[in-house]
Amino acid sequence: MLVGVLTAQPLDRLLDYKAPEGGCQRGAFVEVPLGPRKVLGVVWGPGKGDYDLAKIRSVIRVLDAAPMREEMREFLRRAADYTLTPMPAMLRLATRAPGLGDPPSMRKVYRRGTGLPDRATAARSRVLDALEEYGGLAFTLKELAEVAGVSTSVIKGLAVQGVVREEDSPRDMPFARLDPALPGKALTPDQAAGAATLKQAVRAETYGTTLLRGVTGSGKTEVYLEAVAECLAMGRQALVLLPEIALTAEFLTRVQARFGAQPAEWHSGVTMTERRRTWRMIGQGGAQLVVGARSALFLPFQDLGLIVVDEEHDTSYKQEDGVLYNARDMAVLRASICGARVVLASATPSLESWTNAQAGKYDKLELTTRFGEAVMPDMRAIDMRTEALPSDRWISPSLQSAVQDRLAKGEQALLFINRRGYAPITLCRACGHQIGCDHCDARMVEHRFLKRLVCHQCGESKPIPDKCPSCDAEDRLAPVGPGVERLGEEAAACFPDARIATLSSDMYGSARALKAEIEAIAAGQADIIIGTQLVAKGHNFPLLTLVGVIDADLGLQGSDLRAAERTFQLMRQVAGRTGRADKPGTALLQTYQPDHPVIRAILAGDETGFWTAEAAERAQAGVPPFGRMAGIILSSSDVAQVFDLGNDMARRDAPLRRIGAQVFGPAPAPIARIRGRHRVRLLVKADKGAPLQQAVSEWIGQFRLKGDLRLAVDIDPQSFY
Ligand code: ADP
Ligand code: ZN
Repeated sequence: MLVGVLTAQPLDRLLDYKAPEGGCQRGAFVEVPLGPRKVLGVVWGPGKGDYDLAKIRSVIRVLDAAPMREEMREFLRRAADYTLTPMPAMLRLATRAPGLGDPPSMRKVYRRGTGLPDRATAARSRVLDALEEYGGLAFTLKELAEVAGVSTSVIKGLAVQGVVREEDSPRDMPFARLDPALPGKALTPDQAAGAATLKQAVRAETYGTTLLRGVTGSGKTEVYLEAVAECLAMGRQALVLLPEIALTAEFLTRVQARFGAQPAEWHSGVTMTERRRTWRMIGQGGAQLVVGARSALFLPFQDLGLIVVDEEHDTSYKQEDGVLYNARDMAVLRASICGARVVLASATPSLESWTNAQAGKYDKLELTTRFGEAVMPDMRAIDMRTEALPSDRWISPSLQSAVQDRLAKGEQALLFINRRGYAPITLCRACGHQIGCDHCDARMVEHRFLKRLVCHQCGESKPIPDKCPSCDAEDRLAPVGPGVERLGEEAAACFPDARIATLSSDMYGSARALKAEIEAIAAGQADIIIGTQLVAKGHNFPLLTLVGVIDADLGLQGSDLRAAERTFQLMRQVAGRTGRADKPGTALLQTYQPDHPVIRAILAGDETGFWTAEAAERAQAGVPPFGRMAGIILSSSDVAQVFDLGNDMARRDAPLRRIGAQVFGPAPAPIARIRGRHRVRLLVKADKGAPLQQAVSEWIGQFRLKGDLRLAVDIDPQSFY
């Protein structure tokens, strides 16, 4: 009996193996020999048998993991077709947990033993009470100590006497049960109506997508938690995707409060053992709710009934290397296969989702007012043309006095700049040289906090030199332009008595440190927050009443098709950080173009007007979401080779022309060299209904990649670097 096995190795076919005794079922995870190695695979179907039977090797073993379900295989196949990704790469995404096939490792757990302690103390009885209260449950030492509020030595003392029993238990334990029957918060009539609609949609157990649009602070999270409750009550699993790890901590607290326990987590900050446990438990139904980053979509859910994509417009949902996929779109695909509801939540939806809702493809739900006393911030421009600002200063007199005013009232102010580091450019005042990366066509960004120059493209860094690398002049290197660290320095000079906290992702070694800092700020331990877009995303700072945007024009300069949309979303999001509690907030935007249509739309808060105008412009140009695009990125260490291939591809475009698509380029990519590889882009544009993937696949199939040439296809590209 032969089986065809899909592995995560970069091969373009299934491999035949002899099934183990008793056969193995389709979808089974297996370990198979490949050359000298053992690799993980999935039984995809019967073997082909077109190989010398004597040479075919045997499956080593079937792993002790729930077999891959048919709907998961379907999802991987369709996602592969959509993104033009080979199946092995898709399987790698779906098995991103180490040691999946290992026997479960053990750890010590504690339960009630027999008898009573030789001497009763308050701490000892608290331990026994806790064990009693949770029935027969076993705890780890740390958990029990925490629940009982005692030190671990108390528990160990009881274990010696046998009053508490210590035993080995497999590490991959099911997650604590979440209880959807616990009461949620009392909802406002608006929220309750939204929650009822979502619950009904979840009960239908069929695919559908709802765009949940609500101003920041309107209670979208409260509303979709009700949909989660309904899904759990039906015995189905739910997945909540968040765009940023830093947001999970706050969300976990809310889940704990709503359902009485913590959900499973899936993101880069989760330990390897925990990843393995999560992966296995999701497959066996031992995890009801998962909170995670985009890759959580590829977990082996048993019965997924709901996917929430929070802050659905966020650009981090698009994976920009490896498999280029958009988690928002893949969530819709996965749900449509397994009969789940999708909730896309945002205060500023993507134009794609907005258009789908307008067209009736998605259901629409709106929350129009903030919860409680909170009102939307007052937004105004500071016209930088009229502010007398010396060079190398970025906080205008108007903004400065607004901040001063909040400080006097004991309120918080946020100064926002979307640039990490100290200064974006390091310039030699003697020869005009700008320090660039040795491997990329990009300037090195000074990070004073790290005491290094860092390339934001490849991550390469070097010490800040004291001599110009071009002309050798000493002490003539000067920082040009502001980054978040430099703004922090300026703020410290402007407001010497204020407590200033700078928040930028690279300044915190761990998600935990960042979380602690965010909590401290929310509790009022800072007067002025200096932050990058990290702070724009969903955090609640109740004392914050002023947001100053240092450079509102920054995002408008790009030639990117989504520049206006991104700026609009980001500015609205940042402004939404203010005035979330009982005091009204103000957002001030420093701009040199107060009459720019995008700036005017932001200030007017005219979202519908903005989307309508933006949609009309894109429809006119035939670009997404009103047309389709695919980006092709060619790269090689040899510049002539990339251009030769690019030109060849542009010439032999018959498969594209057959579907009425056009190809543009080749052109050097905006960042023409990354990590020593020269980069060339081509762009394919097609009508909305055209079979783009099929044509692109046929088109690129004509070419062989010589030398170290690489070709990446980006369907629905979001960025064009
Ligand atoms: P959004 O996700 O729309 O930004 P949240 O769900 O985070 O809004 O709600 C904003 C704040 O208001 C949170 O602190 C939340 O706990 C609170 N809140 C919202 N709705 C209610 C409610 N019905 N009862 C109590 N607090 C609420
Ligand atoms: Zn670089």
